[in-house]
Amino acid sequence: MAARPLAIVSAMHEELRALLPALSATQPVTLAGRHFHVGVMHGEPVVLVLSGIGKVAAATTATLLIQAFDARALVFTGVAGGLGAGVRVGDVVVARQLLQHDMDASPLFPRFEVPLTGRSRFAADALLSVAQASASLRCMARATELLGAAHMADFGITDPRVHEGLVLSGDRFVATAAESRALVDALPDALAVEMEGAALAQVCADFDRPFAVLRTISDRADESAHTDFNRFIVDVASVYTRVIVSDWLDSTSRATGE
Ligand code: SAH
Repeated sequence: MAARPLAIVSAMHEELRALLPALSATQPVTLAGRHFHVGVMHGEPVVLVLSGIGKVAAATTATLLIQAFDARALVFTGVAGGLGAGVRVGDVVVARQLLQHDMDASPLFPRFEVPLTGRSRFAADALLSVAQASASLRCMARATELLGAAHMADFGITDPRVHEGLVLSGDRFVATAAESRALVDALPDALAVEMEGAALAQVCADFDRPFAVLRTISDRADESAHTDFNRFIVDVASVYTRVIVSDWLDSTSRATGE
């Protein structure tokens, strides 16, 4: 039987495009309108896929990765808006917990709780998250070499950091200071906001499958959030993702002795 793959999920084309060249022995599989790229990356069996944007897209993709590909772990890579103080553009956030900030079935259930699960926060796999955070730290240490001083200056990136903690997801691009303030008021430990992670988390919890969510901060979830969004993904986030994923797969490969 073929070894079970590690799944790497991206929300946007530019992010997937940065990972594809490192995949060999590629076999394409199309399901539910998604193109799954099955192959080998840094010695590990891997399936790469574009989930599309939003919670439903992420949930469908995660379900397929588990049911059709029997992925042994799922890693979501992408960008997010920074919410926490000190979470700046160019930093990386590794989610330890994920929550759907637009889930609200109150007064039947407490705000944010996923009805009938008794939970609002879904924990990422500790080992996988530590591995992502370690690879991210090594990447940040080389940021100037990897991104180039000019790109760093363009995006105002100095001394990029790695944060670990709560990531919020919802079907809304948060692009006003008022909305991000409201999110932080309701959830003071929130580090970042995006549109997919908590959906993947809920599916992985249902199937008891390990997962991690890795996000480069592209904006501060305020009125300037649109500025150079796509260019940031190409020049910064995709570079980080490629380097962090390669580093993580190399260490995974060494650990399993392959
Ligand atoms: N202008 C882009 C918008 C993409 S949606 C386009 O047209 O393609 C934003 C994507 O980045 C989602 O995958 C989401 O997870 C993430 N994201 C980054 N910043 C965000 C923010 N401030 N609020 C919500 N999602 C954000």
